[in-house]
Amino acid sequence: MIEKIKLQDPELAGFMKKELARQKFGLEMIPSENFVSETVLEALGSVLTNKYSEGYPKKRYYGGNEFIDEVEMLAIERAKKLFNVEHVNVQPYSGSPANLAVYLACCKPGDTIMGMNLPDGGHLTHGWKVSATGMFYNSVPYHVKSDGYIDFEEVKKLAREHRPKLIWCGATAYPREFPFEEFAEIADEVDAYFATDIAHIAGLVIGGVHKSPSEYAHIITTTTHKTLRGPRGGMIMVTKKGLLKDPELGMKIDRAIFPGLQGGPHDHKTAAIAVALGEAAKPEFKEYAAQIVMNCKSLGESLKKNGIKLVTGGTDNHLLLIDLTPFGKGKGIFVQEALDMAAITTNKNTIPADPSSAYYPSGIRLGTPALTSRNMKEPEMKTIGSWIAEIIKLVSDYELGDSKDERIENIEKFREEIAGHALLKEIREKVKELCKRFPLYDGMEY
Ligand SMILES: *Cc1c(COP(=O)(O)O)cnc(C)c1O
Repeated sequence: MIEKIKLQDPELAGFMKKELARQKFGLEMIPSENFVSETVLEALGSVLTNKYSEGYPKKRYYGGNEFIDEVEMLAIERAKKLFNVEHVNVQPYSGSPANLAVYLACCKPGDTIMGMNLPDGGHLTHGWKVSATGMFYNSVPYHVKSDGYIDFEEVKKLAREHRPKLIWCGATAYPREFPFEEFAEIADEVDAYFATDIAHIAGLVIGGVHKSPSEYAHIITTTTHKTLRGPRGGMIMVTKKGLLKDPELGMKIDRAIFPGLQGGPHDHKTAAIAVALGEAAKPEFKEYAAQIVMNCKSLGESLKKNGIKLVTGGTDNHLLLIDLTPFGKGKGIFVQEALDMAAITTNKNTIPADPSSAYYPSGIRLGTPALTSRNMKEPEMKTIGSWIAEIIKLVSDYELGDSKDERIENIEKFREEIAGHALLKEIREKVKELCKRFPLYDGMEY
């Protein structure tokens, strides 16, 4: 696969080889990650990367785009059909620029916007203070209740009080179905644009295992590389309802992406998005999406049976948030690093009303899209849940400490003591055996 890189650039090839092995023989449980098909990889590695195509199909600033136009129109048509929307822009470089373009299209700098607070599970681009979206717009965040569900009473109260121009519904760490309908009601009441960001759940929406926002939202944004299982990229969609509110919304979105925010689109990636959307239109993809959710529920049950607490007590979708506070505060780092040593990849994450900080949070976020892509099912989830619970208990006595110096010292001591621990080694071996039974990129060698 990378024969020419190996010959010309062995140093780089060495790193790539290690990364392929890491993906093949570890359990990828970060819920925003997935494994694309070799067809998607082929499109990404194609000569389409050579082309400049500023503008949109049939309206380009460069010559020679007759075939790129066809590629982009194919991706757009597929997305329109799959998501039941009127207008699609497939050019955003990724999810974050897609979201920024929505602000450019709908708001003026300084306008008020509302999104879910980052430590509560929201995304940076929904108005968090260090993001451009929190610096250039007046961000009024809403929160989740102590049970982990969106505090809808607060949403209504804040929307009526602040009358935002734009309301976001979407998150990076929310294990439950989004109440699109309720959000639409309040957005309509205060005459705000209602944007849903389905970056995490796009594949579940296509698969019919999460409610579609197309009836409720004006705008839908998504990444293409999470449950949708395409290349890294983003899309912005305008619904029928969106065009009714503002007939120019599609044009405003397009202008916000180019020339507002970006230059030339990444045409090889557009081709790969077309491939992924083609795959997502197949009946097998529905089964895949349903299995992601079944796997996640089964993983959650296994964790709970083994004494682990989950935010909201479980999941409706592809991800789970483990609440580590029964063991103390700020334990996420110890668990994430210990799981890493057992080749189980997750990420530390804040939980609702986290007693610690965003850098030393008290939760772990994990999910099943990537494992489901390698065909693992409920029995494997049950086993993996018990391994994770064992590892959590192994490191649960480690304390972070209160001062900075104390923390550095404690984490260092933890790393020394835990490195090469027999239980972690044993689970790492079992993980490898399990991965061999569910091969990934079978036959692919770097
Ligand atoms: C992942 C994500 C994004 C951003 O996507 P990038 O491609 O990382 O820029 C935006 N919104 C939500 C809800 C996400 O989960």
